[in-house]
Amino acid sequence: MIPMMNSQLTITSLMKHAEQINGAVEVVSVTADNPRHRYTYRDAFARVRQLANALSAIGLEQGDTVATFAWNDYRHLEIYYAVSCSGMVCHTINPRLFPEQIEYIVNHGRDKWIFVDLTMVPLLESLHHVMPEVKGFVVMTDQAHMPDTSLPNAHCYEALIAEHTAEFEWPDLDENTPSALCYTSGTTGNPKGVMYTHRSTLLHCYASIAPDVFGLSVTDVALPIVPMFHVNGWGLVYSAPMTGAKLVMPGPKMGCGETLCTLINEEKITVSAGVPTVWLALLDYLKKSGSTIESLNRLTVGGAACPFVIYDDFRTKYGVDVQQGWGMTEMNPLGTFNGNAPETVSALPADQYDKMRLKQGRPVFGVEMKIVDADNKALPWDGISAGAVKVRGPWIINEYYNYDGQTLDDDGWFETGDVACIDEYGYMQITDRVKDVIKSGGEWISSIELENCAVNHPKVAEAAVVGMPHPTWSERPLLLVILQEGESLTREEMLGWFEGKVAKWWIPEECLFVDTLPHTATGKLSKKDIRAQYADFSWPS
Ligand code: AMP
Repeated sequence: MIPMMNSQLTITSLMKHAEQINGAVEVVSVTADNPRHRYTYRDAFARVRQLANALSAIGLEQGDTVATFAWNDYRHLEIYYAVSCSGMVCHTINPRLFPEQIEYIVNHGRDKWIFVDLTMVPLLESLHHVMPEVKGFVVMTDQAHMPDTSLPNAHCYEALIAEHTAEFEWPDLDENTPSALCYTSGTTGNPKGVMYTHRSTLLHCYASIAPDVFGLSVTDVALPIVPMFHVNGWGLVYSAPMTGAKLVMPGPKMGCGETLCTLINEEKITVSAGVPTVWLALLDYLKKSGSTIESLNRLTVGGAACPFVIYDDFRTKYGVDVQQGWGMTEMNPLGTFNGNAPETVSALPADQYDKMRLKQGRPVFGVEMKIVDADNKALPWDGISAGAVKVRGPWIINEYYNYDGQTLDDDGWFETGDVACIDEYGYMQITDRVKDVIKSGGEWISSIELENCAVNHPKVAEAAVVGMPHPTWSERPLLLVILQEGESLTREEMLGWFEGKVAKWWIPEECLFVDTLPHTATGKLSKKDIRAQYADFSWPS
C-alpha cells in the first residue's frame, strides 16, 4: 500500500485546474486571420473539448500522432491540449526544416492528420504527395479565410469544431502516456524524435515556474516568443495556465520588433522568452523608434549563448533583467537557468558580475549534471576544467523515438553534445559543442571562442571555424569569413587579428573569405555542412 495518493501527473489535470481556478484569465493571440484575438482560458478549454470530439469523429484514436505546422496562437494551444489529453501525440513540426527533413519526420513520426496554419498551406501543398500515411489536413482558420487548396481531404478548423459540443469525457491516462513529439533540428545525421510524456511535461512545468527560474505567477503576463514547434515553446503554454498568468502569443509575427513592442506595451507583458535573434530584432526596433517597454521586467534568452549587447542594453537602457536558460530538445528543454542572482553573485564587482550572469546558469532541481573527460571521469567544478556535459533526470530523454542506436551511455546518463566548465557555485558555462571541438595535437581548441574573436573584427560580418584533418596535428582550425559589405581584408591581416587574443597555437591555420555559410533550420551554423563543403580542402604547403 502506497501511503500517499498516487494521482497521475497528466496534462489533463493541469487543464482542469486551469479552467476551474484561472478560467477568467485572458489568452491573446495574433493570427494570420486576426491581428488581435482575445478570449479566456475558460473559452479555450471549452473549445478544446469541441476539438476532442472532432478528433474522434475524423477517426483518430488513442496512440495516434497528429502533426501541427503552426505558429504560437490560440488554435495551436487548443490542439496541444485536445490531442495530448485524448491520449494522442501532438507532433509539432518546424516549418523551417528542409523539405527532405519534413518528409522524413512526418513519415517517421507516422503522422495521421496534419493541422496547418494558413501561412504554411503552400509549403504542405508542395509536400503532401510524399506523406502516404497522412489521411487529411485541417487548415487553422475560419470559413471566411479558408483558401482554395490542393491539399487532399482539407477541412476548415472553425467549421470542423462548430459541428461538435463542448461535452467530452477525458480518458484516464497513465502519467507515462506519450503526449508530444519533437524532432531535433538535425545538425548531424537524420533528425531524431524526442517523445515527451504527460509526467515529464508536468514535472518540467513545476520546475520551470519556480522563483529562481521563470518565477511565473498569477500576476504575470507572459509572451512566449520561442516557437511552439520547438520543444513545446519551452513549456510556457503549460506553465502559464498552471499558474494563471495571462498568455499572449505573437503568431506569425514573432520576428517582428514592432509587433513585439506593441504587444508588450498594449498587453502589459511582464515576462518573455526567446532566442537571441528575436531580442536583437526588438532592440533594433526600440533604438530606431525611440519606444520603451515599461511593463517588461524580465526576459529569458536561450537556445544559443546570450550576446553581451542583449544582456547589457536591455538592463541598462530599458530596465529589463536578462536571464539565460540552457537546455535542449532532449531535455524538455530546461537544464540550467541563470536568473535572480544569489548573494554571492550580487556581491561581485561589476565586471565579474556580468561574466557570471552571462554563464548558462545552474542546474535546476530535477536535472543532475556532470562534466567528464575523454575517459568518462568526472571533472572538478573549478570553473576551469572543461568536459562533455552529461545529464539525467525525470524530464530527460530515455530513448529516441523508434531509434536503433543507443541513446544513453552505459551508466544511464545522456550526453548532451555540449562541452562546458562548471564553477564552484554551480554555474555552468558552455565552451563548445563536442562535435565542433577541434583536437589539435591532443589538446582541445574552442571553435566558438575563435568565431567570437573573429566577429569582433570590425570588418567581419560572420565567421565559422571548423577542425580539418591535419597531417601533423591530427586537426587544425580552418577559419571561414564573410566580410561586411564593401570591406576588404587580407589573409595575413585576418590571422594577425588573433595575435595576443588567443593562445598562439589556437590561431587558425588558414583563412578563406566566402560569400555565404550554411545554416541549420534553426539558424545555427551547420558545421556538418561546412565540413562536407570543404571536404576536399588541403592546407597550403
Ligand atoms: P536544440 O535541441 O535545437 O534546442 O539545441 C540545443 C543546443 O543549443 C544545446 O545543446 C546547446 O548547444 C545550444 N544551446 C541552448 N541553449 C544555449 C545557451 N543558453 N547557450 C549556449 N548554447 C545553448
